[in-house]
Amino acid sequence: MAICDFCNDECVGTRYPAEAVKAAAASGFRPTGAIASGNAVAQRLGLSDFNMADQWVAQVMADSSDWALCPSCADSLEAHLASNPIPARAPRPPLPPVAPRRRRWRLFGPR
Ligand SMILES: [Zn+2]
Repeated sequence: MAICDFCNDECVGTRYPAEAVKAAAASGFRPTGAIASGNAVAQRLGLSDFNMADQWVAQVMADSSDWALCPSCADSLEAHLASNPIPARAPRPPLPPVAPRRRRWRLFGPR
């Protein structure tokens, strides 16, 4: 038993390489179930400007490990890849800017 990386369902997973999922995300694929549930959680937490689709794409682009998908998520990914074949070099959408890490000042300087 594995947990689907898209919808968190328990399932017998099909593994997809990170490159395939990145290419699908770059050509517009979004796992609608995962995004709807992510947005629902954000709404419950009062995060009105949270955009699960953007978060999901950023996560896909940053992740280089395989994805395990349940049959229904694998089907939707396959359907997307069938109409959007993976190009030799997938164009990368721009990543969201990373907030600069705030430097922690030590009160008495480095030891
Ligand atoms: Zn799934």
